[in-house]
Amino acid sequence: MMKSENDFLAERHGCIVCARIIDVLAVYAPDGRLVGCTATSPGGHCLKEERQPLAACDTHTEEEIDAAYKRWKSRNDEKSDHEQEDE
Ligand SMILES: [Zn+2]
Repeated sequence: MMKSENDFLAERHGCIVCARIIDVLAVYAPDGRLVGCTATSPGGHCLKEERQPLAACDTHTEEEIDAAYKRWKSRNDEKSDHEQEDE
């Protein structure tokens, strides 16, 4: 199945700091790569660092978000040690 257009997907993600649900609009390239992410809930925004959408409230400080992001990432790295991931 070949696609040539980006996919726009409405998704819901928990804030990585406090897990509040934030609606986001994620844009995926035809190869499945995340190319963009916009929060559609008021008071939230997307982090751009990852290949998947990550959301956080606007009320958190950069330090809070950074710490939560590192936690999330280390958790994720642990998990991928046990899972076969296609790169
Ligand atoms: Zn939050």
